[in-house]
Amino acid sequence: MSARLVIMGPQGAGKGTQAARLAERLGVPAISTGDIFRANISAGTPLGRLVQEITAKGDLVPDEVTNDMVRDRLAQADAASGFILDGYPRNAAQVVELDGILADTGASLDAVIELTAHREELLARLQKRAQVEGRADDTDEAIARRLDIYAEQTAPLTAAYAERGLLVQVDGIGELDDVTARLLAALESLDAQV
Ligand code: AMP
Repeated sequence: MSARLVIMGPQGAGKGTQAARLAERLGVPAISTGDIFRANISAGTPLGRLVQEITAKGDLVPDEVTNDMVRDRLAQADAASGFILDGYPRNAAQVVELDGILADTGASLDAVIELTAHREELLARLQKRAQVEGRADDTDEAIARRLDIYAEQTAPLTAAYAERGLLVQVDGIGELDDVTARLLAALESLDAQV
């Protein structure tokens, strides 16, 4: 099955959870830019100090910083035969950068998954997560900011991937197992078309 994947979808759609499940099934690493930033913030690294305030507000980290980090991560051995990127690319410039990073090693994306969910459902899930996980960017302001940025900058990217025949849209609402099964079925049907 196709192994170089991007998973997109608004915050709260269940991307992180489903990316981890798919990664296990496909035997590739799930790479979340948000998780890498959070790990650096917790460890107090220079990168963590640089991005702490930006991420807490729900704004995007500058492209140069994010792109370099993704290039380094994709160059690691475990990502050589595949990966699931969660949270990247998030704007048009990052789409171009990711194409370049992959082209440098003769690779390209196999599919881009979009997990869909309505705004009310997302807000409800994010508010619940805020109580459970206490993420710094799960304040009401930062949640609204992240959903707005997603709608303005990230959602339009799916059109470009659809034109390339890479887009797979999957309903993110429902039981975890059902959503995972939908994702696997959608990827298989995309494979069958190629
Ligand atoms: P996430 O866990 O994907 O919601 O990411 C948490 C935060 O990390 C985002 O709100 C941004 O501040 C930052 N971030 C993650 N991925 C990116 C990206 N591709 N470009 C810029 N900032 C990002």
